[in-house]
Formats: sequence, C-alpha cells, structure tokens
Amino acid sequence: MGLPAQSSKYITAKDKDAVHMDLSVIIPCKNEAGSLPNLCEELVRTFSSREGLRLELVFVNDGSTDNTSHTLEEIQADKRLTHTVVVTLSRNFGKEPSMLAGLQQATGDYLAFMDADLQQSPKTLLAMYDLLIAHQDECDVVAAYQSRRKGGLRAKLSSCFYGAFNSISETRLEPDASDFRVFKRCVAEALLAMPEYSRFTKGLFSWVGFRTRPFEYEPDKRYAGQSKWSLGSLLHYATTGFVAFSSVPLLFSAYVGALFALIGFVYIIFVFIDAMVLHNTPAGYPTIVSLLLIVGGLILLSLGIIGEYLSHIYMEGKHRPIYIARQIRRVDKGRASERGVTTNATAGHEL
Ligand code: UDP
Ligand code: MG
Repeated sequence: MGLPAQSSKYITAKDKDAVHMDLSVIIPCKNEAGSLPNLCEELVRTFSSREGLRLELVFVNDGSTDNTSHTLEEIQADKRLTHTVVVTLSRNFGKEPSMLAGLQQATGDYLAFMDADLQQSPKTLLAMYDLLIAHQDECDVVAAYQSRRKGGLRAKLSSCFYGAFNSISETRLEPDASDFRVFKRCVAEALLAMPEYSRFTKGLFSWVGFRTRPFEYEPDKRYAGQSKWSLGSLLHYATTGFVAFSSVPLLFSAYVGALFALIGFVYIIFVFIDAMVLHNTPAGYPTIVSLLLIVGGLILLSLGIIGEYLSHIYMEGKHRPIYIARQIRRVDKGRASERGVTTNATAGHEL
C-alpha cells in the first residue's frame, strides 16, 4: 500500500501472529479500576449481537497505582472475552505512548482507540465500525467528534488551540476531533511508520491522510475516577502539537524583530525632527524603560520558543524508547497462549 520503506522495521503483532482478529480495540488505562469492569460488560453486551466477529481487546496499563492491574487479570480470565492483550508499562508514560504500545500489539484488520472511562460508549464504537465496513470502499477512518462541548475553561482553551493550530500548520485538525476512531490496518501501519518521540496522534492521523469520515457523538460522563489531564499537562500536550506540526513559531522572533526595527527607525526620525526643528528635548526615561521591558520580554519569549523546539530535537536525538513494557500478556482462549514476560517493547525496535 505504498508505505515508506522504513515501516518494514516495525515488527507488529500482526506480522508475528498467525491468528488475527477482525477488530482490535485499544484501550489505554491509567487508574481505571473503577470503570474497566463496566466497560467490559458494555463491550460484551454490545458485541454479543455480532456473532462471528473476532474481537480483540488490547489494554495498556499505563503505570496505574490503583487496582487496575488486578482488574485486568480478572478481565483476561473472563470466558466471554476470548482474545485479550494486556501490555503493562514499566511506569506512567502518558496516553500517547500507551496508544502506540496498543497499536503495536493489535492484530485486527480494523482497529479502534477508545478511552477506558465509558465517556465513549461501546454502542457508538459499534456504530462507527459498521459505518466503516459499510463504506469501506470510500473511507479508511471513522473519527468521532463531540457534538456539543460544555462551555468551560477547557473547552475555550481547546477551541483556541484548534484555531491557532490550523492557522499556523499545514496539517489540518478538525475542531473537537478526538482520538476515538475506528480505522483500517493500512492506517495503523502508516501510524506505526512514524517513529517520533513526541507523539500527537490527532495530528499524525491528519498527516498520514487517508479518507476520513466524521462521526458525531455525545460523550457521556466519566464512569469513575477523575480526568488525568491537568491544565499544565494540557498546555504541554498543546505545545507538543504545535512543535510537531509547525515551524511557524520559529519565525516569530524574525517578524517581531523586523517590526520593532521599523518602529525604532520611524521613532528616531520623529525624535530627530522634534529636537532639530521644534527644539523640544525628548523625555527619554519612561520611553527607554518601556522599550527595554518590551524588547527584553520579546527576546526572552523568542528564546523560549527556540528552546521548546530545541528540547524536542534533544529528546528525538536521544532515540530513547517511547515506552517500556514490563509485561505483555496475550490470552487467546482456545489456544491458551500466554507469552511475552518481561519484554522491552520499544517503538522502532523488534518486540
Ligand atoms: N490515560 C492514560 N495515561 C495517562 C492519562 C490518561 O492511559 O497518563 C488514559 C485514561 O485512563 C483514559 C484515557 O487515557 O482511558 C483518557 O484519559 P482521561 O479520561 O483522563 O481524559 P479526558 O477524557 O479527560 O480527556
Ligand atoms: Mg475521559
């Protein structure tokens, strides 16, 4: 399907495992012991209407400190769930690395990302899968977006982010798009071919292209626990998105510098005429202090922007694994295979 040559170095579970599924649902989990049993009940109930559909659930335990680990063991023992994978990361790496870890283990012809907290219902997931199957000739991804956003601070910041992102990046993001998507394997392979350390999956989905159909949905309330995003982590995530998909902020200092040089030049002419022709002594002190503060602030801001890019280059340059898996436990009922104990599972390296 015309992928870049380097994609062949990514050994995914799909390549290794003869048994592969129809649909793999990738679920990153950080402290989700309260939601996971109900999520699984809902998934079983919803997909019971699809006899014959080989469903695989890929859970990524992202450094949970609650009972998630034990809950996932119970889920893998549940007879109704025939194909499950639990990837246990060695610490909390974040949602993006967890999604990558799940992607590398999933064996489905179709794949999906969904959250563990039941804000995204299995019924919607099935409807999205059905839509993709029904339109598989003209569509590769079905992407859910929120029909209604509450007007809180987070929604306002989010809409500012999408506006700013789309105005400075060539990659387009649909406002209110989420990671909740169902997509074909060719899209998954394209995502796996992108080895970057600072991952921003919404942008990656847009960058790899393919034909995407939006799907309107209304998120439910989180079933249990709390959102894992603080204002600081959201800002960090937004910065990662900007830096990964646009170099326009780097031009900021050049443009502002040029503007200030122009203003300074006009101002000098004005002061010169004022002193020579009108014999006014310029009142310098407040002007100098204000200019020093403004120019000093802008220089520091520009350095900060350059520093942000530099820090991302630094992280990318280290070629560290994007995540480390402590254990990968795959259970295929009927085949009863368990494997992958203490595996260093790193993106860009063979698992
Ligand atoms: N999550 C994760 N690692 C993290 C933070 C979040 O795996 O470091 C998972 C979390 O368990 C959930 C999903 O990512 O399944 C979305 O997180 P959350 O519900 O906190 O985000 P929100 O819905 O508030 O955007
Ligand atoms: Mg949530």
